[in-house]
Amino acid sequence: MSCSDSPKTEGQALSQHRSLGGEIREHDVLEEALAARNSAARIRSAQHRVSPPSSALRGRVVVAAVAVGAFAAAAAGQTLKVGQSSSDDIAPLADSKNASAAIGIGGSGASAAAPEVLAVARTTSAPVEAQQIASTNQIVENRAAVAAAAKAEAERPRYARPSDGRFTSGFGARWGTTHYGLDFAGPIGTPIYAAADGVVIEAGPASGFGLWVRIQHEDGNITVYGHMQDYSVREGDKVKAGEQIARTGNRGYSTGPHLHFEVHTASGNKINPRTWLQNHGVVV
Ligand SMILES: [Zn+2]
Repeated sequence: MSCSDSPKTEGQALSQHRSLGGEIREHDVLEEALAARNSAARIRSAQHRVSPPSSALRGRVVVAAVAVGAFAAAAAGQTLKVGQSSSDDIAPLADSKNASAAIGIGGSGASAAAPEVLAVARTTSAPVEAQQIASTNQIVENRAAVAAAAKAEAERPRYARPSDGRFTSGFGARWGTTHYGLDFAGPIGTPIYAAADGVVIEAGPASGFGLWVRIQHEDGNITVYGHMQDYSVREGDKVKAGEQIARTGNRGYSTGPHLHFEVHTASGNKINPRTWLQNHGVVV
């Protein structure tokens, strides 16, 4: 066997066919037919994928819609945050409406997010809270003031020395007669105070006293103040112990500026004012 007689491979055979040139050979036609068929198949395949929406495609669309909903819900959440962080000009109702609509696209997320929307609607602005705090502080202060006033009222003295002037003369016999009061000497204008809580039953001129003021107290006793320069109360006034009612003078039968002070019982008896004051804790 010679080399030229050795068997040829198929490729070598094809090459040999082509090398002959010119003519269209059966093998080439076959190749072109195969290529055309493959191309048509690709086109058909592509057309097949595009034309009827498969269930898988519908699935992807649904997934995309859910994703959009989630994004919208996230955006709504962002809106809520903005609403919470700003103070004055937020309209909570508008925010909650928008948030609900956005969350509605997302579907199942809406119900879970709804309480947050309500929470935003309840949130009050900083100035309102400050006002409420101030109001609360005011209430606390008012209560403290009322309590302090009640304490002061409870602790205040119910009886008082009627004058800061010098005690010069007591109740009893004096100069061949009876002196029915106490004298407190002091410059004209020295304040005169109510000796106890009571009601003014008279304020004006009186024989011997010049001017006088009479105050009736809860126990029925009446205190009398005379010779004063002037007075600052009138009939019907309620006064408290220690409250100024007049100023010291020298009117009436008086030998110098002083307060003449008497205490009459409800039945009209004139009692020793010094004892009366002393019995109520006021030492003259
Ligand atoms: Zn007197």
